[in-house]
Amino acid sequence: MSTPATAPRTGSVEPFEVRPSSNPRTVAEREAMLAALGFGVDFTDHMARATWTPADGWHERRVEAYAPLLLDPAAAVLHYAQEIFEGMKAYAHPDGSVWTFRPEANAARFARSALRLALPVLSQEDFLESIRALVNVDAEWVPTTPGSSLYLRPFMFASESFLGVRAAQRVDYLVIASPVGPYFPSGIKPVSIWLTRDIKRAAPGGTGDAKCGGNYAASLLPQAQASEKGFDQILFTDSTDSHLEELGGMNVFVIGKDGTASTPRLTGSILEGVTRSSIITLLSERGFDVQERDIPVEELIEGVRSGEVTEVFACGTAAVVTPIGRLAGEGFDLTVGEGEAGETTQWVYQTLTDIQYGRAEDTHGWLTRLV
Ligand SMILES: *Cc1c(COP(=O)(O)O)cnc(C)c1O
Repeated sequence: MSTPATAPRTGSVEPFEVRPSSNPRTVAEREAMLAALGFGVDFTDHMARATWTPADGWHERRVEAYAPLLLDPAAAVLHYAQEIFEGMKAYAHPDGSVWTFRPEANAARFARSALRLALPVLSQEDFLESIRALVNVDAEWVPTTPGSSLYLRPFMFASESFLGVRAAQRVDYLVIASPVGPYFPSGIKPVSIWLTRDIKRAAPGGTGDAKCGGNYAASLLPQAQASEKGFDQILFTDSTDSHLEELGGMNVFVIGKDGTASTPRLTGSILEGVTRSSIITLLSERGFDVQERDIPVEELIEGVRSGEVTEVFACGTAAVVTPIGRLAGEGFDLTVGEGEAGETTQWVYQTLTDIQYGRAEDTHGWLTRLV
């Protein structure tokens, strides 16, 4: 089997041709949507798109009206789940400009995910240009209420109509955008976590470190089981059931009384979050002893019980950080710290969002201007 990879192009960037929607929402309709923001329910008037075939590589780069896709029932993605995605945000700054956070990291991860799922690599230039083009066309959709943003969802899937099992010979790439409100409208709130030990999200050599839809499909059953027990989210352990891995869509940090900040090391079955990586940098600069290591489940349970562990939080682009106030599993049910958002969790949230929203200086060069 040949790997469908397109060599990253160098030199000038090919534009995404803008084909404006003939039927955009009215200003009143848009303002009504922006006044009642949920998460991932409303979408802007346009989407970015490109198509790949072995003969033509990536072509037909365009921004066109947001619309349902016409998909053959035999499209490979519907049968074999050859699909990957990314999640990022565009933030309105006080001066009216619009920025995004570390998009090169998302582009690089998207390329790694593509290789693992035998999808064609989209160059960083194309990735960034697709986002820039879409956000410029739909700039009026970037919300400006505090804590809100335009959530960006780049994704790629096998659109070839073929039931044979091999890498698809036709692939579509799209970016859609959804204005979203603050994840925690009234201040960050702790969530309850069920430690899932019987069902695994990923295993060594699998697709755990690729951002693909299949990983999420595998997490829905244990998530539903935990919801039934009254828990908000689940925490997965590794395939040997010895160490922490991550939540269904967020990485995890454990803060110790002794000044340590631990997060599971990247073993190949954990998704490397951009938020995780940024928090490692910020906490190191703050003077924490940051450790990327194997975190034994029993160590976590004992640490929370004894008070050695003062805070546990999850992190990802959507919520930034989510404090974990209650940690339970088969045979234990514990309150973490005071059961509230701890000092370090709040500091991380504030520091990261201050950079993203342009309220603090971007000393790391993490922001890229879109509009
Ligand atoms: C996307 C994702 C994360 C968080 O990544 P960010 O880049 O920080 O948004 C963590 N775990 C999984 C499984 C994910 O899919």
